[in-house]
Amino acid sequence: TSSHECERAWIEIDVAALAANTQQLRQWLDPNTGLLAVVKADAYGHGAVIVAQTVLANGATELGVATIPEGIALRQAGISAPILVLGSVNLPVQVQMMAQWQLQPTLSTPKQALIFSDYADHLQEPLDVQLMIDTGMGRLGCSWQDAVGFVQFVQRLPHLRIQGLYSHFASADDPDPTLMLQQQAAFEQVLRELKTLGLGNVRCHIANSAATLGNPASHYDLVRVGLSLYGVYPAAHLRQTVSLRPVMQVRARITLIKEIPAGAGISYGHQFIAPKPMKIAVVGIGYADGVPRLLSNRLEVLVQGRRVRQVGAITMDQLMIDVSDLEGLQEGDIVTLLGDDGNDCLTVDTWAQTLGTIPWEILCGFKNRLPRIPV
Ligand code: PLP
Repeated sequence: TSSHECERAWIEIDVAALAANTQQLRQWLDPNTGLLAVVKADAYGHGAVIVAQTVLANGATELGVATIPEGIALRQAGISAPILVLGSVNLPVQVQMMAQWQLQPTLSTPKQALIFSDYADHLQEPLDVQLMIDTGMGRLGCSWQDAVGFVQFVQRLPHLRIQGLYSHFASADDPDPTLMLQQQAAFEQVLRELKTLGLGNVRCHIANSAATLGNPASHYDLVRVGLSLYGVYPAAHLRQTVSLRPVMQVRARITLIKEIPAGAGISYGHQFIAPKPMKIAVVGIGYADGVPRLLSNRLEVLVQGRRVRQVGAITMDQLMIDVSDLEGLQEGDIVTLLGDDGNDCLTVDTWAQTLGTIPWEILCGFKNRLPRIPV
């Protein structure tokens, strides 16, 4: 397409794949279960606005972000769906912004609830809030043993409307479900006690992608999915569930091709020395774009549908590849770092495995200087 003709590197967003993933997840759920699309961190590096628009048009009912600016950016793009801020907010000025932009806070303590309640009293208008309970994640939320009292406390505040009661799994992607089921049991106990007190009509949710795919009993009123929307499975054992396609493809151009003699060193520190005369291509993408430097000499890329290896240290804006075996290659030709070329496909899972990290971190690592191009 013409939009990336002048770029040295870019990210293609496969909008059809994103739409299909959303529909697949929608079909996986009970029709009464809501689908909250987690679009924090610029939609895991995919571009929050285009992702939000696409998922909302294909079955998502609301959105989750991490921060107030992420929520405001969606509102400024004209998005009117409910937005839950998953991070924690305490400062009065933040409360004012959340009210102004209709962003729902995640409350963990009575103290936090009072900050919002004071502001709502001052406005003389109701504010939507969600309450977080910690069932074992050890991050946000009031401890589940105190949850019933917390809900009762907030329920008595006249201007706060509880739009949800939620928790978060710490290891739903583990093939051993023990911890997930412990957390779910704690959550259930809170819900049971609330019901006994006649407070059982609050909307509740706990499932991330892994629990959405692997544990339908945890869906409740709403699921909060991030990774799976983007076509990446949270764990290998969950591949047999919903069929998902990767949304992100990362491409860059060859900026220079050259022949080097045996013994020539490549890049900083000469971590690669040519064992024989070679043909090397310089590619216009580097660690400042989101290609981790720790992949140096361990990365494979696709050129002309064939796998070639990356050689030498990955630099800030450029990296080198061994194209000795390719014919007819030209400067300006396209290199695929993630995604399809010909019959082959490079996945973020391979990068994560090589680095000993998780696919979430790789996706979020792609920087804004790479344009996101819908395809
Ligand atoms: N819910 C909360 C509170 C989160 O922090 C996240 C992401 O980390 C998600 C849901 C979505 O998780 P996933 O990307 O595994 O679907």
